[in-house]
Amino acid sequence: MDLSLKNKVFLISGGAKGIGRAISETLQLEGAIPVIIDPSKEVGKLVLGKGCGLHIPLRLETPADSESAVNHAFSTFGRIDGLVNNAGTNDRVGLEQGNPEAFARSVQKNLMHYYELAHFSLPYLKKSKGSIVNISSKTAITGQGGTSGYVAAKGAQLALTREWAAELLPYQIRVNAVIPAEVFTPLYENWLNSFSQPEEKLNEITHRIPLGKRMTTPQEIANMVVFLLSEKASHITGQQLFVDGGYTHLDRAL
Ligand code: NAP
Repeated sequence: MDLSLKNKVFLISGGAKGIGRAISETLQLEGAIPVIIDPSKEVGKLVLGKGCGLHIPLRLETPADSESAVNHAFSTFGRIDGLVNNAGTNDRVGLEQGNPEAFARSVQKNLMHYYELAHFSLPYLKKSKGSIVNISSKTAITGQGGTSGYVAAKGAQLALTREWAAELLPYQIRVNAVIPAEVFTPLYENWLNSFSQPEEKLNEITHRIPLGKRMTTPQEIANMVVFLLSEKASHITGQQLFVDGGYTHLDRAL
């Protein structure tokens, strides 16, 4: 299927590692131009290789960071066709192991740049009739325990997906969310290593994933995201798409 993405420009926050990296690489394979906003200098360069694209080595922390990343992308390429809000960290700020200040910081670092990048990209997305994909998490639906800040941000991302899909209807800008559950990435590996027996924990989890008793690959998430960014998804908006081998919804006894 030709996704007609050639020479289109897409911003990907956290696009140098894990799920974001797979999205950046898949866009490149489709002939699109990924703009990777991610602090990982070496990896960012590696992902782009000799292909077309731009790495903005930045950790998004303030509105000014998002504004400058969007301006940098537009001044380099003269267009923005889509945004993938992906950067996030499961930082385990819970009710018991946490405090109000840490909670506020966790929400800030997992949520605010989703709004800020969308806000500052909007004038360009209006011109291109672009598309936004928000990467959320199944923890927003199921809970995880011990991670209030991250989950509050992930839930808000789902609410904003519907809200923005409604607000942006007049501009034909589509907004969707993709919900991963268990994907082996550097983030996931860090989380796993917080258990005393990471391998046992991994076996326990993969055994509960209905389809194939295996983790979802970053590529499987990227395939959905890139499809949603393309005009082949031209009548899909405001949706929450679970790419999780049935983990969130199918009977655990299966
Ligand atoms: P990852 O392996 O940690 O990769 C994320 C990348 O984003 C890293 O390069 C990270 O840089 C960068 N990053 C983090 N905060 C940033 C910021 N404020 N500004 C710019 N870049 C930033 O994570 P992942 O597992 O691919 O997760 C990607 C998304 O999927 C997240 O939103 C996560 O919540 C969601 N998700 C993942 C899973 C899973 O199973 N992996 C499940 C559900 C949801 P540093 O490494 O330097 O921080």
